[in-house]
Amino acid sequence: MIIDCHGHYTTAPKPLEDWRNRQVEGLKNPAVTPKASELRIGDDELRESIEKNQLKLMRERGADLTIFSPRASFMAHHIGGFETSSTWAAICNELIHRVSRLFPQHFAGCGMLPQSPGVDPKTCLPELKRCVEEYGFVAVNLNPDPSGGHWTSPPLSDRHWFPIYEALVEYDIPAMIHVSTSCNPCFHTTGSHYLNADTTAFVQCLTADLFKEFPKLRFIIPHGGGAVPYHWGRFRGIAQDLKKPLLTDHLLKNISFDTCVYHQPGIDLLTRVMPVDNILFGSEMIGAVRGIDPESGHYYDDTKRYIDATPNLDEAARRRVYEANARRVYPRLDAALRTGRLRPGAQGGVTS
Ligand SMILES: [Zn+2]
Repeated sequence: MIIDCHGHYTTAPKPLEDWRNRQVEGLKNPAVTPKASELRIGDDELRESIEKNQLKLMRERGADLTIFSPRASFMAHHIGGFETSSTWAAICNELIHRVSRLFPQHFAGCGMLPQSPGVDPKTCLPELKRCVEEYGFVAVNLNPDPSGGHWTSPPLSDRHWFPIYEALVEYDIPAMIHVSTSCNPCFHTTGSHYLNADTTAFVQCLTADLFKEFPKLRFIIPHGGGAVPYHWGRFRGIAQDLKKPLLTDHLLKNISFDTCVYHQPGIDLLTRVMPVDNILFGSEMIGAVRGIDPESGHYYDDTKRYIDATPNLDEAARRRVYEANARRVYPRLDAALRTGRLRPGAQGGVTS
């Protein structure tokens, strides 16, 4: 089985974007603010948007199941206040839930949180609870910078975030550390802000003792960990100077990296530097980079090709990257697979 741990609903039907535009417009002109109930998207529209896109590519490329979350760049936590984010997150998560019910064998849900700059993360807990208890989601995305590129929140090691971590540990679900759109013109959203955030999140953990406090907390740092594998020597050296334990003990029991790295040398480096147990297959397909690489003739985001081709993984290691590691990091996904709730023909999707 091949599990893609990183997919977003980037192909949601147009009424979703129209609804959001009205919501944003409503911040200036409250008369146009739409009600949640005004968003109407039928099951057939959802089905079509998935079958022609994600599911088609999963079949072509050989992935069986995607851990699927709302479109990351659309989370835009910096827009409006808590109420804005709360309504928007609820709508987006419900759509993911519906997709996971329509295609229970192919999609497991991952929620977005209704974060808002300067607002206590505790306010995210009701939506987090709904995602896990009502929707059966297996993870959430946690934005370390709800300000959208201005980094006004404390580092991830700060107590500020602890209410979220307590819930993650209680539900035994991991968080993918994932920023959203940059509203700072210095940072291109997917070219620099995403990769900066991946590196920044890692270093925030490196320079603190978060996982001493939360030994069961698990983060997935996406996009191959940003600069982390390339600069592994620097990070090991900084940890050593800070008298931190070896990174294998200090961070690698709690942090995994996905394979959203869009060329062969990048995947070769990732699989050479990182222990195989810390690597999860991910593609983030139909996402940041949608074109075909003229050097290879294949889609940049067809990351399975690079994993299949790398000399650094044997068959057993590849199986860990494709399946076993994800089932360990996402125990609720593993439980759903074991009990057959994600198999073809299962009724109602994941319902744990
Ligand atoms: Zn993503």
